[in-house]
Amino acid sequence: MQRLTMNRYAETHQEFGWGVPDTFNFGADVVDVWAQDPERKALIWLNEEGDEKHFSYQDIKHLTNQFANMLAAQGVGRGDKVIIMLPRLPQWQIAMVGCNKLGAVPIPCVTMLTEKDIRYRVEHSGAVAAVTTAEHTHKFGDDFKARVSVGAREGWIEFEEGLAQQSNHFEPVRLSADDPAILFYTSGSTGLPKGVLHSARGLFTWRVSAWYWLSLTENDLMWCTADTGWSKAGTSILYGPWSCGCTVLFFEGGFDPEKRIDLLEKYGVSVFCAAATELRKLVQLDVSDRDLSQLRLTVSAGESVNPEVVRAWRDSSGSDLLDGYGQTETLMTIVNYPSMPVKPGSMGKPLPGTDAAILNETGNILPAGEPGSLAIKADNPQIMLGYLGDAERTASCYVEAEGQRWFLTGDNAYIDADGYIFYEGRDDDVINSAGYRIGPVEVENALMEHPSVQECAAVASPDIERGEVVKAFIILKEKVQGNEVLVKDIQNFTKQLTAPYKYPRKVEFVKELPKTATGKIQRKLLKQQEFGG
Ligand code: ATP
Ligand code: MG
Repeated sequence: MQRLTMNRYAETHQEFGWGVPDTFNFGADVVDVWAQDPERKALIWLNEEGDEKHFSYQDIKHLTNQFANMLAAQGVGRGDKVIIMLPRLPQWQIAMVGCNKLGAVPIPCVTMLTEKDIRYRVEHSGAVAAVTTAEHTHKFGDDFKARVSVGAREGWIEFEEGLAQQSNHFEPVRLSADDPAILFYTSGSTGLPKGVLHSARGLFTWRVSAWYWLSLTENDLMWCTADTGWSKAGTSILYGPWSCGCTVLFFEGGFDPEKRIDLLEKYGVSVFCAAATELRKLVQLDVSDRDLSQLRLTVSAGESVNPEVVRAWRDSSGSDLLDGYGQTETLMTIVNYPSMPVKPGSMGKPLPGTDAAILNETGNILPAGEPGSLAIKADNPQIMLGYLGDAERTASCYVEAEGQRWFLTGDNAYIDADGYIFYEGRDDDVINSAGYRIGPVEVENALMEHPSVQECAAVASPDIERGEVVKAFIILKEKVQGNEVLVKDIQNFTKQLTAPYKYPRKVEFVKELPKTATGKIQRKLLKQQEFGG
């Protein structure tokens, strides 16, 4: 594997070929290959009670074969959709890869889905099988070819028992690179969740961000804390790390900052992936008496990590914090690299094999420094097949610009003179004040540097004179009192860090910020509130 350095970035980018094979099955071509080494460990699972289970790649090979046989015996086959709604249990990886072997299309879902959410997904996708825990079976109807439950339930096949009845030999289906292979529903930050369909080539290409961003080797222990239902879990818990043959730590418990540090220390995690919202809490802990010497890299994706957090985590943990940008539709496309200088606040540079540009409204590529729509050059093998059952919406993601087809991410960004990309916010979050475009993230990054600010969101608020002004919603650090003097102080402080026209003319201190299930701040809701619903 060629690690990236600043000097080699351009060359690597140029020389890079995706090497997508004609046919691919993640089960056969990745898991079963690592399984040839019987000693290679795939998974360490643990829960809050202190239970712990270890699985080799060979164990996973056999268990996924049994899983594929079990679904096949119920009439589930190639192309069939399977809802997999499991918490962080090893059955999740077994069911996901078992489906891959069968050529079925797994739909990973978070367990907090309600009966209505599940019905929407089942009807939308035409799912014919479901896998969940006994505690959630009541949310499912009975119109499935196969229903598998971890823990016994009337009318459901018990997971372990079902597996025990099956042979551990299975001949994985050869999928063509463009055959459907996984279906994710988006976080729904901006509306109804969309069904994002990826093909076998998608599963193949996710190794590239694992090589260059996570820089994983066979000797790593990787821990990603994402929930199993999101695309980030797909890339950073399952397909990325296992493509590299490393071991994955999988912790069933909830978010407790101290416990995170305990596990990083106890297991000697070498690569850690956590959401920005978790990292904002982790940097507040004093970890000076902890041994985090094994931790060589921390990454974050899904939301901006404020430069303040990047610096604080590096100082406290000793490991670099590399932000990466991805979407359910494209997976990881713009990332920071371990051997390239980090510009705190930047999402990094495009992955080898990926070209990004900033487009204006008339479809022209903008020069360095100018903000606009972030687009990825098509055809990039990481880009989704499309939104399931919505060809129109899929088509609307593409535009022509300067003789090329581009995929529009729906996000705003700019590229600096060195090629580093800075996120500004979703298209709808950009604030338009007296003719100036203001990206909320830049304001938030400045606010976060203020010693009294714990967390914040900047959104547009109506203003007669300027059309819109910047309003900051701020959670103050513990024991800090919000008052007029502090408002003025924060405003003056921000004016010094960003262009003065960007400072928040309105400030409101709050105890909480609205967030999605994945922990992303919902600026859209705050903005709606400002504009009277
Ligand atoms: P929906 O599309 O249903 O509204 P969503 O866009 O939140 O939900 P995801 O695909 O999980 O669903 O999230 C992708 C989005 O998250 C990106 O389009 C971008 O707005 C944001 N994002 C991802 N990574 C980063 C990052 N490193 N920095 C800033 N924002 C990021
Ligand atoms: Mg989105």
